[in-house]
Amino acid sequence: MVVEIGKIQIGGPRFTVIAGPCSIESENQFLSTAQAVKSSGASILRGGIWKMRTSQKSFQGLGSDSFNFIKKVKAQVGLPLISEVTDIRQIEEVAEFVDAYQVGARNMHNYSLLTELGRQKKPVMLKRNFSAYIDEWLKAADYILAGGNDQVILCERGIRTFETATRNTLDLNAVVYAKKHSGLPVVVDPSHAVGIADLVPPLCYAAAAAGADGIIVEVHPKPSEALSDGDQALTFEVFNKTMQQLEKLLAAFDRGLNKA
Ligand code: PEP
Ligand code: MN
Repeated sequence: MVVEIGKIQIGGPRFTVIAGPCSIESENQFLSTAQAVKSSGASILRGGIWKMRTSQKSFQGLGSDSFNFIKKVKAQVGLPLISEVTDIRQIEEVAEFVDAYQVGARNMHNYSLLTELGRQKKPVMLKRNFSAYIDEWLKAADYILAGGNDQVILCERGIRTFETATRNTLDLNAVVYAKKHSGLPVVVDPSHAVGIADLVPPLCYAAAAAGADGIIVEVHPKPSEALSDGDQALTFEVFNKTMQQLEKLLAAFDRGLNKA
């Protein structure tokens, strides 16, 4: 199955890099990040509008206050955008400017949300819950597929294990297993899997070597000032260097990057 976000094909021979901030924080932050990741070779933008935070006191996302400037930034940069919907009502609200919907790890079991996304025409990226068996993740995808939306991408974003040194544990088994058994494109989110910026680049390479269809990576102009997930965000410079290395690694597997 090949899924198209904008004009970018995910699940074909080329590897796709989705990048951007964890949360969209301001017009400047989003624009500068979008421009930087595009010039380094990312072909799809990410950015959270509503955030599912563990603490209610943490930044919850700008929500509808960001819609106008997101449209402006997209028009300026010219890349498609994937963003998380945490509630059925948001699907319609962002339909005008979001090119693919993300289902977050915490909502993988939200079957009414998945069913509604199954009625949409746009692609859906389904993140694996940190406690879900692979089988539960693939069965969750069926809720979207059953509605007639076959544009589904799976995303492995790390699971909870006994290990506490890293935020989660990247399950590359799940990537190769899901590729073989689901028939859907599978991307890797090394940022949430490891939670430590320095360790993100090697996991990007590991994802490509394992045969993933792409990666989704968090990048921020000033990670130490990020309103969410600053510890795992790459600077523009590190992201750029990572992209250069990634292209070399992909070449060894006779693959190239999807270009915007
Ligand atoms: C995110 O992509 O910023 C996010 C919240 O991811 P997850 O749902 O995997 O925790
Ligand atoms: Mn995040």
